[in-house]
Amino acid sequence: MKVLLVFAHPEPRSLTGALRDVAVRELEAQGHGVRVSDLYADGWKSTVDRADFPSLAPDARLKVPAASRADFETGTLTDDVRVEHEKLLWADALILQFPLWWFTMPAILKGWVDRVFAYGFAYGVGEHSDRRWGDRYGEGTFAGKRAMLIVTAGGWQPHYAARGVNGPIDDLLFPINHGILYYPGYDVLPPFVVYSADRLDEAGFEPVAERLRERMRTLATTLPIPYRRQNGGDYLIPSGELRPGLEGADASGFALHLDGAVKIRNPL
Ligand code: FAD
Repeated sequence: MKVLLVFAHPEPRSLTGALRDVAVRELEAQGHGVRVSDLYADGWKSTVDRADFPSLAPDARLKVPAASRADFETGTLTDDVRVEHEKLLWADALILQFPLWWFTMPAILKGWVDRVFAYGFAYGVGEHSDRRWGDRYGEGTFAGKRAMLIVTAGGWQPHYAARGVNGPIDDLLFPINHGILYYPGYDVLPPFVVYSADRLDEAGFEPVAERLRERMRTLATTLPIPYRRQNGGDYLIPSGELRPGLEGADASGFALHLDGAVKIRNPL
């Protein structure tokens, strides 16, 4: 497999950095090709503005989706974004690695998504009509590829459990896993999460590293989170609502979008 790892931590000697090295080494040992986008080291520009759209006339009002579509279609998006497009199309698997900051990804990584996931590339793909609402949620540019998150979190695991005060980790990560990765077609694997990360000592590192190595060894075979496909018959089109009666007895909220037969579970 070919793997793109997008790394979002400002300190290479961090725990997150050490785990990146573990992941890359294991992937390479398995014979996978690996490329890393190191956002802080590369000085990634993390906000969308006019400079992202070279074809936009200086006096034109900026409408981001339209400008994104226009420059994507003509191949005139900025060089840094086009390089990431080439890497994403090259990779069979995408890994996003970051520390959990305010219950989500650091701004620099969100800015990578905002700028790289362009109209016509990651959204606005396929037919939009009364019969079909685009190629998304299981279909799209990245259909057939895999994606997963590697996350460190300061909070304790029980604080992220079903009744935990922070909210369940699968709910907190749903906007990334479902909204950012499944939307343009990736099969999304359960996340690798390190809890109580700030308290980890040297002795605690090796077991975590070994769990991560195992996830890297099984990157091609781990079952994806069983999100429902938008165009697989479970949703009404064009309303986008789940057909009545498909939800399991105890399903509500984000869990409605899981195929009822299988629940999200974190394998390691
Ligand atoms: P580091 O700070 O680099 O290291 C953590 C520990 O690992 C250190 O004690 C270090 O010595 C040890 N360690 C062990 N082995 C190694 C090794 N081989 N290499 C390096 N270090 C090692 N947490 C939450 O749960 N929810 C939140 O919403 C949240 N929001 C945050 C918002 C902000 C702005 C910040 C700064 C932190 C937040 N946190 C939150 C905490 C954050 O998730 C953790 O600080 C982070 O995940 C720790 O990862 P790190 O790579 O930065 O760790």
